[in-house]
Amino acid sequence: MISVEHAFELTNTHTSKTSKTVTLGITEALGYILAKDIVSPINMPPFRQSAMDGYALGSIEEKNFILIGEVKAGDTVDPALKKGEAIRIFTGAPVPTGAKAVMMQEKVDVMDKEIILQKPVASNANIRPVGEQIKKDEIALAEGTKITAAGIGFLATLGITNIEVYQKPSIVIIATGNELVSPGQPLDYGQIYESNSVMLQGALHTLGFSKINILKIEDEYDATKNLLEKVIDQYDVVLISGGISVGDYDFVGKALRALHVEEIFYKVKQKPGKPLYFAKKGETTIFALPGNPASSLSCFYIYVLPTLLKISGYADYNLKQSTAVSNSNYSKKGQRGEFLKAFVKDNEVDILDGQASSMLRSFALANAIVYLPEEVSEINIGDTIHVINLP
Ligand code: AMP
Ligand code: MG
Repeated sequence: MISVEHAFELTNTHTSKTSKTVTLGITEALGYILAKDIVSPINMPPFRQSAMDGYALGSIEEKNFILIGEVKAGDTVDPALKKGEAIRIFTGAPVPTGAKAVMMQEKVDVMDKEIILQKPVASNANIRPVGEQIKKDEIALAEGTKITAAGIGFLATLGITNIEVYQKPSIVIIATGNELVSPGQPLDYGQIYESNSVMLQGALHTLGFSKINILKIEDEYDATKNLLEKVIDQYDVVLISGGISVGDYDFVGKALRALHVEEIFYKVKQKPGKPLYFAKKGETTIFALPGNPASSLSCFYIYVLPTLLKISGYADYNLKQSTAVSNSNYSKKGQRGEFLKAFVKDNEVDILDGQASSMLRSFALANAIVYLPEEVSEINIGDTIHVINLP
């Protein structure tokens, strides 16, 4: 059995950014990571642009100007503007070639066909120069950049429609267990509703992973082995729920061994989630998560999430951590590291009731996980502790 820290490090060292890229429309690329530098195809702004509603001036030495017309946003004209002449102009409109500055309208007195400046104006005031934000052929966004809403907007301003990003992995979730029934069906004696697959799918959706398939399998060796053999070939990431413990009807470990996967670790000194299993087969990443729902989700956040983000090209793939002051006392019973469901607000953290690995209610109300390393045995009210913020 290895420590949490060692397991965490092993998932990291055995994971690398995918070499697969895909070209997507910018509107589909939210949350993806750029696989190539994007070079700007244009100057932005593409023409000298007025930053104000006001008057473009043919010279800046005078106080009085003759008004000769107007240019509004979208006009394609470039009227000649001479010394002593001004033209009405609006925000976003092209500034005539001869203009030396734009004076905001609030600082101008207007008399019929003439304007008078209330104060002097600086050369090029309120004119956005060509390429002020970015010049043609400069790098607009570099490889490794995560595409956000602002990024989509920025690329759209440059007229870019498609970009090359790192492909997100295809993921299969396999729920094992004879006792499991899908919600919506009647429950017989001895049965429970299957919750892990939809829970993990929800967690994946939150992170922007959408290529997910869900399969179910009974506790039967041959069926388990056959299904695993097939999915390891077909998917980038295989997430198995349950069947990885030491019971007589836990067949996942045995099946994976028979398939000659490269086992990287099995069993971590942690609570919940001791029977966590991590393996690779070629390019495929395999996690077998313990079936108890809170164990499954805890292992997902701590180990699977950073792995998936790293595969997808994220440089910043770990959950955000912070510190908070504990409002709770907690004492650990065993020697293992513990992950506790918690709620953080205003720099204070409550450790929630109902920490058993079979219970999801506390997790449903949590926004953070508190980690107690092996060597820490208790938390006292007022202690400053580390919290891992959930996405
Ligand atoms: P296992 O890891 O298969 O030994 O399962 C441990 C516990 O988690 C058992 O009580 C199972 O009934 C429960 N469990 C396993 N898989 C699921 C699932 N997909 N949804 C809900 N509970 C599960
Ligand atoms: Mg089971």
